[in-house]
Amino acid sequence: MHTSVVVVVLETTEVYIVISLSTRRDTQVVYVDPTTGALRYLGKHGEDVFDSEAAALNYITDGSRVLSKSTTYAKALLGYAVLGSSALLLVATQLSASVPNLPGGGCIYTVAESQWIKIQLQNPQPQGTGEQKNIRDLADLDIDGKHFFCETRDVTRPFPSPMTLREPDEEFVWNECLSKPFKDIGLPGHCVILLQGFAECRNFGGAGQQGGLVALIARRSRLHPGTRYLARGLNACSGTGNEVECEQLVWVPRKGGQRVPFSSYIWRRGTIPIWWGAEIKNAVSVEAEIYVANDPYNGSLQYYQRLGRRYGNKSSEANVSRQKKSGRVPVICVNLLRYGEGKTESVLVDHFKESIRYMNSTGKLGSTWIQLINYDWHATVKLKGQQQTVEGLWRHLKAPTMVIGFSEGNYYDVRQQLSECKGSVICNDDVNGGFCMESIQNGVIRFNCADSLDRTNAASYFGALQVFVEQCSRLNISLDIDAMFGLSSRYSEYDGRNTRSLPPGWEERFDSVTGKSFYIDHNTRTTTWEHPCQEAPQKPWKRFDMAFDQFKGSTMLAPVNHLAELFLLAGDIHATLYTGSKAMHSEILNIFKEETGKFSKFSAVQNVRITVQRRYQNFVNDSSRQKQLEMFLGLRLYKHLPSIPMFPLKVLSRPSGCMLKPVPSITPMTDGGSSLLSFKRKDLIWVCQQGADYVELFIYLGEPCHVCQLLLTVSHGAEDSSYPATVDVRVGSSIDSLKLVVEGACIPQCLNGTNLLIPVTGRIDPEDLTVTGKSARPNVQESSYLPLLYDFEELEGELNFLNRVVALSFHPSAVSITPITLGEIEVLGVSLPWADMLTNSEHASEFMEFLNKKSSIVHCDLGSKSFGNSSMPGNDSHGIDGSYTKSSSSVQTGGSENLLDYLTGDFDMSEPHITENTFGNGEQTNFLDDGFDVNPFAPALEVPVPKVNKQVEECGSTQLYLKFFESLSGYNKGKGLDFEQMMKLEIKRLRLGLSAAERDQALLSIGVISATLDPNRSVDYSYLLKLSSLADNLALLGHTVLEDRVNASIGLEKGSEHAIDFWNISENDESCYGGACEVHALSSSQALATRENQSVFVECFRCERTVCKACCAGKGAFLLLNTYRELKIYGGSQSGGYSALADSFVCKSCCSEIIKRALYVDYVRVLHSLRRKDRSEKAALSAVNQVCQLEYRKASDLSQSIQFGQRQLKQILDGEESLAEFPYANFLQMVETANDSEPLLSLLAPFGTGEYKSYWKAPQDNTSVEFSIVLGGLSDVAGVAIIVSSCGYSTSDCPIVEIWASNKIHREDRTFIGKWDVQDIISSSPQLCGPEKSSRLSEEPRHIKFHFPNPIRCRIISIKMTLPHNGSRSTKFSEEFNLLSLDDSSVYESKPTNPQNSFIHAKRIVVFGSSLRKEVGPDTSGGIMRMKSYLDRSPPLGRFRIPVEAERLRDNDLVLEQYPLANSPGIAGFRLDFFNVIRPRVTHSPSSSELDMRKFSLTRMEDRFVNPAILYIQVTVVKESGKLVVEEYRLPEVKANTPLYFDFPDLQQDARCVIFRLLGDVTAFVDDISELENLNLRNLPLASGLSLSNKIKLYYYADTYEMGKIGSLSAV
Ligand SMILES: [Zn+2]
Ligand SMILES: [Zn+2]
Repeated sequence: MHTSVVVVVLETTEVYIVISLSTRRDTQVVYVDPTTGALRYLGKHGEDVFDSEAAALNYITDGSRVLSKSTTYAKALLGYAVLGSSALLLVATQLSASVPNLPGGGCIYTVAESQWIKIQLQNPQPQGTGEQKNIRDLADLDIDGKHFFCETRDVTRPFPSPMTLREPDEEFVWNECLSKPFKDIGLPGHCVILLQGFAECRNFGGAGQQGGLVALIARRSRLHPGTRYLARGLNACSGTGNEVECEQLVWVPRKGGQRVPFSSYIWRRGTIPIWWGAEIKNAVSVEAEIYVANDPYNGSLQYYQRLGRRYGNKSSEANVSRQKKSGRVPVICVNLLRYGEGKTESVLVDHFKESIRYMNSTGKLGSTWIQLINYDWHATVKLKGQQQTVEGLWRHLKAPTMVIGFSEGNYYDVRQQLSECKGSVICNDDVNGGFCMESIQNGVIRFNCADSLDRTNAASYFGALQVFVEQCSRLNISLDIDAMFGLSSRYSEYDGRNTRSLPPGWEERFDSVTGKSFYIDHNTRTTTWEHPCQEAPQKPWKRFDMAFDQFKGSTMLAPVNHLAELFLLAGDIHATLYTGSKAMHSEILNIFKEETGKFSKFSAVQNVRITVQRRYQNFVNDSSRQKQLEMFLGLRLYKHLPSIPMFPLKVLSRPSGCMLKPVPSITPMTDGGSSLLSFKRKDLIWVCQQGADYVELFIYLGEPCHVCQLLLTVSHGAEDSSYPATVDVRVGSSIDSLKLVVEGACIPQCLNGTNLLIPVTGRIDPEDLTVTGKSARPNVQESSYLPLLYDFEELEGELNFLNRVVALSFHPSAVSITPITLGEIEVLGVSLPWADMLTNSEHASEFMEFLNKKSSIVHCDLGSKSFGNSSMPGNDSHGIDGSYTKSSSSVQTGGSENLLDYLTGDFDMSEPHITENTFGNGEQTNFLDDGFDVNPFAPALEVPVPKVNKQVEECGSTQLYLKFFESLSGYNKGKGLDFEQMMKLEIKRLRLGLSAAERDQALLSIGVISATLDPNRSVDYSYLLKLSSLADNLALLGHTVLEDRVNASIGLEKGSEHAIDFWNISENDESCYGGACEVHALSSSQALATRENQSVFVECFRCERTVCKACCAGKGAFLLLNTYRELKIYGGSQSGGYSALADSFVCKSCCSEIIKRALYVDYVRVLHSLRRKDRSEKAALSAVNQVCQLEYRKASDLSQSIQFGQRQLKQILDGEESLAEFPYANFLQMVETANDSEPLLSLLAPFGTGEYKSYWKAPQDNTSVEFSIVLGGLSDVAGVAIIVSSCGYSTSDCPIVEIWASNKIHREDRTFIGKWDVQDIISSSPQLCGPEKSSRLSEEPRHIKFHFPNPIRCRIISIKMTLPHNGSRSTKFSEEFNLLSLDDSSVYESKPTNPQNSFIHAKRIVVFGSSLRKEVGPDTSGGIMRMKSYLDRSPPLGRFRIPVEAERLRDNDLVLEQYPLANSPGIAGFRLDFFNVIRPRVTHSPSSSELDMRKFSLTRMEDRFVNPAILYIQVTVVKESGKLVVEEYRLPEVKANTPLYFDFPDLQQDARCVIFRLLGDVTAFVDDISELENLNLRNLPLASGLSLSNKIKLYYYADTYEMGKIGSLSAV
């Protein structure tokens, strides 16, 4: 069976991906969320797992009752990406089996045809046209014929790979980024592992009967993925342009059950591994200009180290016999460039030579040993002709090829056979049998010309050809013509005749003594026992010594030409990938063909044509192809697709979310309003009751989450005012804990079907609101204030990941006369990975470890909160150690006291002494030194957290903050703080974990107004623009460097942190170290004498003076100064490019003040973002703790306990389904819980979570509790089971249980099911009494089942438990016993039946039955039709534009004044066309936690969802009378240029002037990238797209017939 992928697009535009893998028997269905594009897969049989494709398709189309718009049939899934308002799915529609059967099985398929399926999403997130153009470009990328994959074997490594398919070598995986969405939903193998390059094989015959197969596999490295002229030489990832690993695999196919002998030879090709580039001046010029970087060998070392690691033969065992043990890994570079006088390429040759000399001199290559062979291919061909060129190459290659050898071995289908294997054995789970290796290639030959194109391909062919003949001979496939004759004569031997032919001059005789033949060579007068024609092929590598003609004459040419054919094809593929055209100069590969001569003339013409074609192609297309490739690989996305979130939000209101109360409608609707939550009812217009003051909706979310956005689909009839005008949002974890989070959010009138996004913040503390300036801002006239540096007054909303109920109150518009209409409603948010955490035994322990780590940090609750951990950038920057000088490990001792202050964030300035222990990381740094340049500001590995902690406990962070403030302001008495001091104060504040509101409160308490300490206000506007623009640039540079570092580490020893350490910033005052420091940018302090350590000095990149740590600006300064242009992935710009590996230092005196300040700004932004992350992680932690207590769990026990729990549940369910499990089910109302109890939600938590013995209990004085449980979906409930707590029941605490079922929250509508007295049950089941025997865990836990008489279809189950005693009796009892217990308490405490101890308790509540698989609401189409009939009746009024006499823009175009003509009609409202701006994802340098987030994160909540940017428009109507009318509107997010109509509450007569003012988080937006071609992305700190120019029109309402009367009026 082949893999089959079917992509079904339904009429509703919903998309399903149906995948049936060749390696599995079942079919998986992945649903694409129509709003966010997130993939959904739960792995539930009958829902998204099916036995066959047909069953899956039948389910999706509901037995083809649901129409599908389109269906695409494909053969492999290649990738998927969500790109804002659209998503792209890449599938292979045609494959060719290019290597059908590898030894040991497995087929390599080449993608012959592919298709990008574009999925339109309804997410209205603002996205610019530039971004959309880039998405279109990505979808244009043609991958056909140039990519291959294998579904069952790892082919990213030399054959045979010891690794499985799941662990490919990242260097060669091209769809790693695109396949991630499938990995994230738990389908890691559903996307193939896509390689770029060439794979093809040929059958060939040898002498005699045995034939062989040869495959040529060429994998292109993705580390320097560019096109010609943009990707040459090395880049920042230490990859070279057009780098390809080639493999020549020869084997003898056998039928099953036998061994398959094979051999494999590997070589590399790529451009010269130094830092160089070329630039085409124009489309027709012949020579491109070559330049070499200032520091050309940067990254060369890493390049060779990578080769050494990959080709070093680790299993020396197998090679002992064949290779002389040297421990060396030879890397032989064969350089084919021109090096004659005056040739442009010769400069490269010189550098190449020099680089290798340098490499060998560094002593850092380990066992890798590099040798360079220069062979000027073109010159030799010209001088000596093709044949002699080939001969010459062979002479050069002979020795290295023989030393390096190739791998050979046998595949055995049965593993037992391997036990006899003498060499090393390679086995993995992907193959049945195993490989026994007789020898393994050690080292590699690397070919290069300028481009790794034509010469490279030709030379590597002639090199590989020699190996090919040798490989064949080792496999007993002789390609010897002589041997062919020999063999034929051997067969004749069977006839008893000795007619075997001998070479001329030879004679065969018999030895009369032994009877054996011997041979006389009369030419040389020698004799031998061996037949001359048999001996010849056994001499290894003999063809290296042959002249061309000799080779040709003695070798079977058919296989040779088969091989040439493969090389020609591969050459064309690589040329096409790199240059967009076929290879040139390839006629030499046909040199063994008889008719070569005929073609050479033709070839010459062709070469010229290709040259011209290439030049043109490269000039015109290179940069756009480069961009396509980068996006395909997921690189530089913050630049190409700046607004796209890494982790899109989830829609949580979809079924199984539901309405908890019926939504009123004008005509009775059976579904109670749930169609409002369904995407399938996109066209719905819900008409509410006539005359309603407001409409209230209670939405139960499918999963608990932090609510981030409300998405409304505007829906109305002919009159657009029937859609509500405002909405209030309340959220809560249950219906009785709702909190108002949005009040009166304005809903403008707009076209039917418009999607409005209303950002939602968590509840903001009213006290915070009053204290920060921000709350007042919309009313304040300080419109010129722009917090461009960072949000100084950030208001922090409460984060809660357990929100479950969203209540919406819609209010009608004032002018509306028709009933309120509603359309589809969606709630978007971030949910925690509950399923992985609670029920996935593989991942759960991983999460638990992570949580425990987090919780221990929270428990310390140090002043600096989580900043105490080592991922803090503060530590990165300050954790200096002395070891930047390579040999100085012995010299290092701590450092100086001042440094320690920055390192620890030490708060106590009077106590500067910390032992040098705290940063004794010199050794570690030396260890890292291995690969990278040593970083003198490397992150500290150990941070003395407890010390800080103690201090905070003693003083409180507020006190410490104020103390620090006083110490700063003390320096310049009476005067305000300067910019740097303000930033230091903010750094201190963030380190101490104070929110802006807490800061303001603290300052207020000492009579300081915080605005006076706002850095945004401390500099003038133009300076502010420049400064924030610099900081924005640094943010982008930082992400570039990070990305490059991550990629640069591929294939190298891990262990180097990718941490970005841009800032050399201290919050305390510092002073020059003196000593060797030649810069003295800061005044020296008295402590000078103690600073003797030389190792904290570096050299300034600019002035080349020695500079001390304190006088050095951060590395970010180097970036800003030197690459104000952007860092390109291809490294090279004319001036030489820049490598992320080479961070240099700039001293503070060479670096202007504004750059130093920009570093501060960036640093504070990073701290800000860390604070947000920290807050969301804490909220996540607290949410988890409300489901199960973390403290008791040991991660290692967890997976076992989860598996055990799942078995227990299965026992209890007895074939039924569990319907009320968290996170799908939840309590509708809070239930009072005892203090020492497990959390309430633990009652619904999956089995196996929480401590085994623990259970839930009600407070002692509660004699009755009621649980209302909202089930995971509409279900047929068969009964309820209560798992008995470990304490067991006694006569006094076994409750009376009553159960009801219902669908909505109205109590009166519920159905009574029954009443059970547990007392009766336990009398017949005594095992339920008393504490559990702790000795063994039973498979079936103690439980009581309450079976319903009949299954009942419902959504909510209510369970009431009442203790047997009535209230008065129990009180009396307890009083008595309290009195008694005073006398002798021990007696009563020991008795479990003591009524004093009775309380209601349970371990778990299980609801069982069967859930209704599908969203099968009652058929509502009739009702919807009837509802529509209520609309379209009132003839709509038209909106007419009010002419404006004059208008004026001011305050950065954020304020617009319009002066209507005199005698204008009254103003009814205004139209606003929405802004063409985006919110960029990248706003600051990456902190190391950003890396963690990519790998593993609990919340995956991006900054901009923690604190969403919200815009307001304030309208002031100035009346003739001078009276002012001020209105304010919170703006929803819509697509750019969507017209929004805002009606004033009253008609505004006699307006002299109307002032519009854009307020809110205007600084969070930037311009669309299409507007900024050739500029840096965030060139303008304030988006020009936010300009109110031409965005606003005033209107009034009039009957449309008035149109005729006043000709000058136009509709708006
Ligand atoms: Zn200094
Ligand atoms: Zn300097």
